[in-house]
Amino acid sequence: MAKQFEELNPPIRTLMGPGPSNVHPRVLRALSAPCIGHLDPDFLRIMDETQELLRFVFQTSNRFTIPVSGTGSAAMETCFVNIVEPGDRVVIGVNGVFGTRMVDNARRLGAEVVPVEAPWGEPISEKKMEGSLKHGPVKIVAVVHAETSTGVRQPLEEVERMAHRAGALFLVDTVTSLGGTEVRVDDWGIDAVYSGTQKCLSCPPGLAPLSFGSRALQVLDSRKHPVPSWYLDMGMVKKYWGSERVYHHTAPINMIYGIRESLRIIYEEGLEARFQRHFDNHLALVEGLEALGLQMHVAEGLRLPMLNTVRVPAGVDDFKIRKALLDQFQIEIGGGLGVLQGKVWRVGLMGHSSTPENVIYFLGALGALLKANGAAKDAGAGVSVATEHYGVSR
Ligand SMILES: *Cc1c(COP(=O)(O)O)cnc(C)c1O
Repeated sequence: MAKQFEELNPPIRTLMGPGPSNVHPRVLRALSAPCIGHLDPDFLRIMDETQELLRFVFQTSNRFTIPVSGTGSAAMETCFVNIVEPGDRVVIGVNGVFGTRMVDNARRLGAEVVPVEAPWGEPISEKKMEGSLKHGPVKIVAVVHAETSTGVRQPLEEVERMAHRAGALFLVDTVTSLGGTEVRVDDWGIDAVYSGTQKCLSCPPGLAPLSFGSRALQVLDSRKHPVPSWYLDMGMVKKYWGSERVYHHTAPINMIYGIRESLRIIYEEGLEARFQRHFDNHLALVEGLEALGLQMHVAEGLRLPMLNTVRVPAGVDDFKIRKALLDQFQIEIGGGLGVLQGKVWRVGLMGHSSTPENVIYFLGALGALLKANGAAKDAGAGVSVATEHYGVSR
C-alpha cells in the first residue's frame, strides 16, 4: 500500500521563546481569505493600507515603508545590499548573534567592517563607538535595538548623533522591538530600519517590515554599481509598491493579509497601551522569577520587556527543564545561544503572547519543575508574587 500522509495537526503551544509568538485567531483567519491577483485593484488597496499601518507602527512618514518578501534576515540583507558598495567602511555594534550576522552580511559585500564589541548582555559603549568613527568616512553605523540573543536594549540617541556627525547613515535592527516597545523612526533620526513579523507583531514568519528615509534612498539612487541582489533590489521593488505598480515578484498575497490584520490589531490597541502591557507583564515575570530565587542576566534599566534572559541556576540541566516545559506544559521558551548556551533561558513575552495568564502559567510550571529538580524550595513563590503584582490579593 502507498504511504499515507496524515492530515496536518500541529500541537497548540504557548509560545514564550524568542519568536515566533502566538498568533491571534484574527490573523489566522485573515491568512485563509481567498487569494486574489497581485495587481487586482482590491489587492492594491490592501497594499496601500498595509504601508499606512506600517508607517504607524514605525512612527514614520517615510513613503518607502514596505514588507519585504522574506523573514527578518532578508530585510537585514536588503539594507546592506542596497546601501553598501565594495570598499565602504561600515561600523557595526556586535554584542550578540544579530550584530554578528550584520557583520557577515556587510563583509560578503566587500565592505571594510569595523566591529564595535561589547560582552553579550551589555549594550555597545558609546565611547568605543565614538573611537571607531575617527578613521575616515563611514557609510553606515548599524546597531541592534533589541538583541534577542541576550535580552539587552541598545540606547540609540547618542549613537544616532555620532553616526550623523560622521556623515554615516544610521541603520537599526528592530526585529524584536517593533510593536513591543517604543520605536520612533522619524524622531530618532533612523535612516534605514527593518523588523520581522513573528516577534512582537505576532504574525507568522514570512515578511519583514522595512523603511528607508530620504538619505538612504539618495544613497541607493546614486550607487556606482547595481545592487548585487536581483530579488532584494529596492530600486525595482519600490516601483511595485509605489504608484507605478511595475511587476517585480509576486507579492505573498495571503501573508500580506496576515500582516495587515496583525497591524490592525496593534492600531486598535494603541501603541502606548501596547508598550505598557509589554512592560507590565515583564515586571510581573521578573518579580516572579526573582521570587523563585533566579537571577536576571541583564542589568535593570537595560532589559527588554519582550525578551527576558534569566540565568539557569547552578546544578540545573537547561535542556531537561526546557524539554519538560514543552512536553508537560506545552510551553516553549528559548535556550542560550553562543557564549550563553546552557547559561540562560530566554523567555519571550511578545505581542499576543504577552499576557498575565502566560506569565502566571509559566511561573507555575517553572516553579514546579525547579522544585522537582531540587532547585526551589517553594514551587508557588513565583505565582504568588506575580498574582500580587496583578492586584490579586487575599
Ligand atoms: C529574529 C531576529 C532576526 C532574524 O529574523 P528571522 O525572521 O529569523 O530571519 C534578526 N534580528 C533580530 C534582532 C532578531 O531577533
